[in-house]
Amino acid sequence: MAGPLVRPVQYIIESSWRINVFTCRNQSCEAQWEQSDVVIKNEGQGLLFRCPMCGARNYVERFDGEDGSVLYEQLEGRPDHGPMAE
Ligand SMILES: [Zn+2]
Repeated sequence: MAGPLVRPVQYIIESSWRINVFTCRNQSCEAQWEQSDVVIKNEGQGLLFRCPMCGARNYVERFDGEDGSVLYEQLEGRPDHGPMAE
């Protein structure tokens, strides 16, 4: 007997990874961007992109997918590197 169709949580996570939308952490902006909309670079405190709308720094973490693709996941805040030394 087939039960009700329930999507496994893992599937939902993976599909949202594929879409991979970033949300600007500037609370007065909160614009959403796809990875292709933004330029991810390292300005010395970790990988980040600048929101094309307001210029806020949004930190991301890089993951290498099993198929060789590069994925980025947005971080809640900035990477914990302690106080800025320079
Ligand atoms: Zn923004």
